[in-house]
Amino acid sequence: MIKYFDRKLNMIYSSKLALAKENYEKNSAEILAEHPMLAQAVKQRKKLQMELSRNNALKKPTDALQAQLDDIKSQISQYVKDHDIRLSQNYSCVKCKDTGYINSAPCECYIKEYKKLLRENLSLSPLAQFTFKDNTFAASDAPQAKGMNKLYEIMQKNVCENFANCKWNNFMLSGASGVGKTALATALADGLVRRGISALYLTAFELVGVFLDKHTHKSTRMSSLYDYVLECEMLIVDNLGTEPIYKNVTLEYLYSTIEKRMAQNKKTLLCTQLGAQALAQRYGETFLSKFADKRYSLSVGYITGDNLRK
Ligand SMILES: [Zn+2]
Repeated sequence: MIKYFDRKLNMIYSSKLALAKENYEKNSAEILAEHPMLAQAVKQRKKLQMELSRNNALKKPTDALQAQLDDIKSQISQYVKDHDIRLSQNYSCVKCKDTGYINSAPCECYIKEYKKLLRENLSLSPLAQFTFKDNTFAASDAPQAKGMNKLYEIMQKNVCENFANCKWNNFMLSGASGVGKTALATALADGLVRRGISALYLTAFELVGVFLDKHTHKSTRMSSLYDYVLECEMLIVDNLGTEPIYKNVTLEYLYSTIEKRMAQNKKTLLCTQLGAQALAQRYGETFLSKFADKRYSLSVGYITGDNLRK
């Protein structure tokens, strides 16, 4: 789990706890209103507890008070038993009592909330819901089918299901328009989030929007996404090459983002329609050779084939 969502999760769990407490208090008030004798005993218990702690603080004898307190406690539990009273806590998760943790390990409800946040933050714009199961190349005779099938397999088995031990950090997927790059990238994003791995899918145009708002200190949803661009475990940038080149922004922020991500062993997938030459011209040989270094990168030769969008 990455830190980016900590504050959000804390807020979720403190409101869950507040709600449970509120429900509990409402529930107890109702019960005490129906049972005046119990209300009296509970009042007495509170009074004794206070006296006891005062005596403790003043180092005064407490034995008699303790005996009275024990007596009233057993009266209360007897009454509760006799009248079959159930004080429900109304926790939304009984396992962790809405704390999110069991013995300092995250509860399954916490993991569920985390995955929900990952899903909500997967992309800026609504994303087509492709999954690995939607790979249509298995039964296709399109020229790119064989290569794309192999890629689907790599993305599912070697990247998604083996994320922590995957040897590649950078991925470069270049190919003609409509050969199926976006569907694959989307399926990968979906597969990662299902496994609780933070993935962010942005078009290069959106990414530059994030950089621009960050650069101009605008307080927007875009600029607040900048930290997630750096922190997410898999950043997917689609349609690289179609974004506007703003002076001092596009290339500078792209380089520094990739550099920071690489320094932290975060994975990045770039999808582009540009060929090697056009890429080098636009982003420079230095950047490309560093990004696509075979020791830690998987680059796929230019994919051609049928345009599936037609
Ligand atoms: Zn829980």
